[in-house]
Amino acid sequence: MTLEECKNYLSLAIKELENETPENSIPILREKFSEAKEILKYENNYIYVVVDSPLSKVMIEKFYSNRLNEIVTSLVGTKTGFKFINKDEAEKEKSLENEKFSIPDVEKFDSSRSLRPEYTFDNFVIGETNRFAYLTAMKVAESPGVLNPLYIFGDVGLGKTHLMIAIGHYILDKNINAKILYTTAQQFVEDVFQYTKRETQNIDVFYNKYRNVDVLLIDDIQMLAEKTKSQEEFFKIFDYLHEKNKQIVVTSDRNANELNLMKRLISRFTWGIPVDIQLPDENLRLSILKRKLEGLLNNPSDVPEECLRLISNNFKNSVRELEGALRRFVTYCVTMNIPFTIENVDVALGRILVQSQSNSSEDSKISTLTDVVANYFQINKSDLFSESRKPILVYARNLCYYIIKKDYNISFTKIADYFGKKDHTSISYGYERVKEGLVNDQSYKNDIQYIKDKLK
Ligand code: ADP
Ligand code: MG
Repeated sequence: MTLEECKNYLSLAIKELENETPENSIPILREKFSEAKEILKYENNYIYVVVDSPLSKVMIEKFYSNRLNEIVTSLVGTKTGFKFINKDEAEKEKSLENEKFSIPDVEKFDSSRSLRPEYTFDNFVIGETNRFAYLTAMKVAESPGVLNPLYIFGDVGLGKTHLMIAIGHYILDKNINAKILYTTAQQFVEDVFQYTKRETQNIDVFYNKYRNVDVLLIDDIQMLAEKTKSQEEFFKIFDYLHEKNKQIVVTSDRNANELNLMKRLISRFTWGIPVDIQLPDENLRLSILKRKLEGLLNNPSDVPEECLRLISNNFKNSVRELEGALRRFVTYCVTMNIPFTIENVDVALGRILVQSQSNSSEDSKISTLTDVVANYFQINKSDLFSESRKPILVYARNLCYYIIKKDYNISFTKIADYFGKKDHTSISYGYERVKEGLVNDQSYKNDIQYIKDKLK
C-alpha cells in the first residue's frame, strides 16, 4: 500500500467514524484527528500515523482505535490496522523509513479486540520494582514460546494486566495475523460453565476458542480456586498449547506455590519463569505520574512537582489508585478553573484522603467494599465517587449502594453523603435497579455473589 493510499484510507475511515458519531461529539473527534495527518509508513498491514500531541494520541487510542481498525479492515478487505505514534518516535524511525509490501492472509480471528489499546510497552513506565518483570515480558514478546509459561504475580493494581497485554500488542505488531487471546480466569470459568450447561455443540466452540491460538494470555488465575472442572479444562488446554510451543502468559495475585489450585497445575506454572512486580518506590510513582500527565494536559509542566509528590505519598499501594487520584485532581482543577496547587490537591482528593485515613467501622467497611468492587470491574476506586455516567460505573455504583443498604443497613442519606451526592434519590434508584435485576438477571446474581465472596 502506498502512503497516498494509506492517507486515503485514513480519511475514509475517519469519515465513516464521523457518520457513526453523535452530532455533538463530532467536533471533539475532528479536533483529535486534526493532529493526525501524516502517514509515516505502512508495515505488516499497519498504517502508521503520526500524531502531534501526546494527548490526542492517548485519546485516539483509547476511544477510537478499535472501531477505526474495524472500519479500515472492511474498507481494505484484508486485516489492516492503524498505529498512532508520537512525533519523536516518528523522527527516530524516519531514517529507516521504507515501505514494505506484504501479502496478508485473511483471518477471522480478531486479536486486538481484547487487548486494551493503551496497555503497551511504550506506555509502561519502568522502575526498580518492575524492571525485571518488564525485561522478561519483553523477552517473551520477542521470542514467544521460549520462556513458557511466563508467570507474573503481584498485588492488585501494579501493572500485571498492562504488562501481559503489552506482550500481546508487541507480538501483534510484528505479525498482524498472530492469534492472541486475552481472557480472565473468571471468563474462562464462565465459558466452561456455558459449555457444560448446553453440552455438545458448545464444546467445539470452547475448544476452538482456547486451542486455536498462538498466544494465550490468562489474567488472575487465582480465580480458578475451587473450580475443579475449570482447572481440569485449563490443564488440558495448557498442555495442548505448551506442547505446540504456543506462548502462555499467566498472572496472579500471589506466588504459584501459594495458589489454591491442583498440584499439577501449580507445577506447570513453575516450568517457565516467575516474575513479580512489587510496590512502586517513590521514583517510579513520580515517573508514572509525570507520564500520565502527558495524557491529561497539553502542558503537563503546569502541575508543580510538589503536587505530584503529595499525591505520590498518599497512594503508595496501587498504580491504579495513584493514576485515579491524579486524574481526579487534574479534572477537578480544570473543571473548577482553579490552579494546580497542593492546597487544591487536598480539596480535590479530600474525600478520598479522609476515607483512606478513617477508621470508623462503617467507613472502613464501605472502603473495603469499594476496593473490591473497583478491582472486580477493573476501574478506579475514585471513579465510583465521580459523576461519570459510563454504564459500567453506574452499574458498579449501584451494586455498592445495594450491598451497603442491604447488608450494612446504612441509610440512603448516609450513603449519599459518603458518595458525595447532593440527595439520596440516585442512591435509592440504584438500589431498586439492583433489586429488580436480581429477580431476572443472572449477571447481577453472579456479580453480587462474587463480591460477597471476596469480602469474606
Ligand atoms: P494489575 O493487573 O496488576 O491489577 P493493571 O495492569 O490493571 O494492574 O494496572 C493498573 C493501572 O495502572 C493500569 O491503568 C495501568 O496502565 C497502570 N500501570 C501500572 N503499572 C504501570 C506502569 N509501570 N507504567 C504505567 N502505567 C502503569
Ligand atoms: Mg489485572
